[in-house]
Amino acid sequence: MNKKITRRSFIETTGKTSMAVAFAPSILKGSIHTNIGFTQQPIPYSYNALEPYIDAQTMEIHYSKHAATYTKNLNDACVAEKFDSTKNSLESLLSSISKYSAKMRNNGGGHFNHEFFWETMKGGGPDSPKQKTLAAITQDFGSLDAFKNQFADAAKNRFGSGWAWLIKNTNNKLVVISTPNQDNPLMDIAEVKGIPILALDVWEHAYYLKYQNKRADYITNWWNVVNWDIVEKRLS
Ligand code: MN
Repeated sequence: MNKKITRRSFIETTGKTSMAVAFAPSILKGSIHTNIGFTQQPIPYSYNALEPYIDAQTMEIHYSKHAATYTKNLNDACVAEKFDSTKNSLESLLSSISKYSAKMRNNGGGHFNHEFFWETMKGGGPDSPKQKTLAAITQDFGSLDAFKNQFADAAKNRFGSGWAWLIKNTNNKLVVISTPNQDNPLMDIAEVKGIPILALDVWEHAYYLKYQNKRADYITNWWNVVNWDIVEKRLS
């Protein structure tokens, strides 16, 4: 009897201990926490997988140069500003980003946004929205076309560099927004906050080699590489 109680209290105690060290759930698939700081996950397909819509050279430079630099600079900022990335999630950093430097804001956003972006795409398309996604989009936008138009407008009208997003806002409603630079809707400084569901990078580095000044064509073609399975998972 005593032994059982002891064993049970042991399990409860250790259970609580592991809860205490567990990280807040990450929106990104896989763990972004390692003991050496924030890291880029391997891109989940080859650089040429999104051809002909996004070319291999753009993907390679985008992932291995631009995005890699955001990750490196984020880790540098974490050291300089004493943010312990082994104990705290990227989401928690973003939700209090106003307390940190512009370098932290730009690169913390840059790291999160790109990791999210690679996961949002896949080759072998085009595919279509899955059941829950289509139902939610139809409910909140009227139709898939209405949503796509609104999203494309947000992406086209973002002046300079930034992102277009589909998010679930704090009222649990799907809305389209756009953010400047590397800001995102998880940041406490965001005009509209929410959970990211879908994101499109409209920085020139994301499309210029193939599309030059034709951002609208890039946006139209991008629907062919959207990973709707991931979108469905994020909505659940
Ligand atoms: Mn980018």
